[in-house]
Amino acid sequence: MTEATVAGVAVDTRHWIGGERVGSAETFADVSPIDGSVVAHIARGGAAEARAAVAAARAAFPAWAATPPAERARLLHAVADGVEKRLAELAIVETTDNGALLRSHLRGVMPRVAHNLRFFADWLTDRLGHGDFDTRGHNNHVSWDPAGPCVLITPWNAPLMLATWKIAPALAAGNTVVLKPAEWTPLTASLFADITAEAGLPAGVFNVVQGYGEEVGAALVEDPDVRRISFTGSVPTAKAIGAAAGANLTPTSLELGGKSPLLVFADADLDLAADLAVEQYDNAGQVCLAATRILVEDSVAEEFTAKFTERAAKLVQGDPRDEATGIGPNIHAEHLARVDGFVQRAVAAGASVVAGGGPNEELGGLFYRPTLLTGVAQDSEIVQEEVFGPVLTLQTFADEDEAVTLANDTRFGLAATVATGDRDRAARVTERLVAGTVWVNCFFVRDLQAPFGGSRHSGVGREGGTWSFDFYCDVKNTVTAPNGWR
Ligand code: NAD
Repeated sequence: MTEATVAGVAVDTRHWIGGERVGSAETFADVSPIDGSVVAHIARGGAAEARAAVAAARAAFPAWAATPPAERARLLHAVADGVEKRLAELAIVETTDNGALLRSHLRGVMPRVAHNLRFFADWLTDRLGHGDFDTRGHNNHVSWDPAGPCVLITPWNAPLMLATWKIAPALAAGNTVVLKPAEWTPLTASLFADITAEAGLPAGVFNVVQGYGEEVGAALVEDPDVRRISFTGSVPTAKAIGAAAGANLTPTSLELGGKSPLLVFADADLDLAADLAVEQYDNAGQVCLAATRILVEDSVAEEFTAKFTERAAKLVQGDPRDEATGIGPNIHAEHLARVDGFVQRAVAAGASVVAGGGPNEELGGLFYRPTLLTGVAQDSEIVQEEVFGPVLTLQTFADEDEAVTLANDTRFGLAATVATGDRDRAARVTERLVAGTVWVNCFFVRDLQAPFGGSRHSGVGREGGTWSFDFYCDVKNTVTAPNGWR
């Protein structure tokens, strides 16, 4: 089987290698989390496909690296045009594949995909010039060169959006790419391959291999011809990738999980704070940045909880394709069971269920009720481990010091959100928080020039602006003596 029709859209289910569709002897079933239906049978790549894709990227590299940056930028804009033209198709296919809200894909995520491409096409290629410095008459000439074939490995929670954070800077800098999307959400990567071909990207510059992480993914990261690995996903996978990359000294960027706090101070606008808290159920809690630990100042805990539960109760759970839906399904049954396991163990350990607390039995399938737990100990599993589902905990604090201590007390450091009406407090607290991104009285907004990433077990390196530029380039300094010429 080489093609599937998903929500009325034709999707090629094979790999995209060297500008051609390539099948595999075996396939795997792609299941929609909305209703459990099998929507496609996808080529199941292994070591041979990984090798072929890296070889194609390697063969295409010299010509693409030598392509003038302005021409590379023009082609990336053409890809963005293609994304915009097929935006509605990409949105419905992504929703079918990962269960996130269709309206978010239509209005936020897919426009951002196009923006990712346009931003790096312009911003990065503008910076590819050269720098000159003088040292005692010697000229130091600094240049930024593309590194070579890059392997990009992405998760299922925001498939095409996260992929284009990597694809756009890698290609703009003159590298070639092999993308390995998550096996749970293979479809939009395949559509994107079609779009790159229609835009005129030369064969081999962008490649996609489909399949399981332990099979085709592991083979890609072990390949000694790969010059950069950019990974977004879980901590255990990152460790496996880091070990394989280390064996070849391949520079690696790792964007991992989190257990981010939302700090609500008594001086905050509590309506805004409650809105921010409910927003953490977005994508059924399957967002790396989600502030899943709500920390509230004692004196307003009751009032805040009342405002929060009132809002959470109004969230409509159901089909992510419906405009009214506020929370959709989780990605697959094993994941749902894992989410529920966290909640049941927390309850057994003494946590109280303020909202939710189990699967949505009326809906069945993969829907988990938006859950809030209190009475949780700081060193408990539910406070320390990433659940990646619609599960929040609420703890209280007495003062600023305790708030910061609790906020920083996990092995993660991806993000933090602070709700306060006091500018000085905001400055003091944000300075002390360990997090790659801190939001004050807002959430989720980021300019692409700004860094994104995490500290501690939330990651290694940053993406965005200068940080992506540095990662995808090899920097060279050429020092020339003043008197060597004849
Ligand atoms: P995952 O680690 O299971 O899988 C991510 C990708 O890695 C998939 O494409 C998978 O096939 C591949 N993979 C698995 N094993 C591999 C191996 N041995 N070698 C090479 N590739 C391998 O993660 P997931 O379940 O898809 O995603 C959820 C996780 O991602 C959560 O922890 C979440 O916080 C994190 N995440 C982080 C960010 C961020 O930007 N920091 C964004 C989104 C998701």
